[in-house]
Amino acid sequence: MQSKSEGTCELCGHAVAMRQKAHIVAEGGKHGPNLLMLCPTCHIMFDTHVKPKVFKALFEAGVTNLPKSWTRSIYDQAAEASAKALRRKKGRMS
Ligand SMILES: [Zn+2]
Repeated sequence: MQSKSEGTCELCGHAVAMRQKAHIVAEGGKHGPNLLMLCPTCHIMFDTHVKPKVFKALFEAGVTNLPKSWTRSIYDQAAEASAKALRRKKGRMS
């Protein structure tokens, strides 16, 4: 029997044993047209490279009201959150 997560990645088209739910707009709905079923590699590429690049291209083309979650890669967002936490921690120690 095929598991729910098993299937074809909606980006690369490879058949994989485990697909992950990727939300196109993080602030948007949790299913339906806002959801892609991706292999783990494509999921990371989508969040770290595709979203920020599509955001930049659309922004430069004059599209407004774009999702805030697309502005930067999730790695940049995580690095910023870590730096902020570190500054808070240092602030408490001094
Ligand atoms: Zn894929």
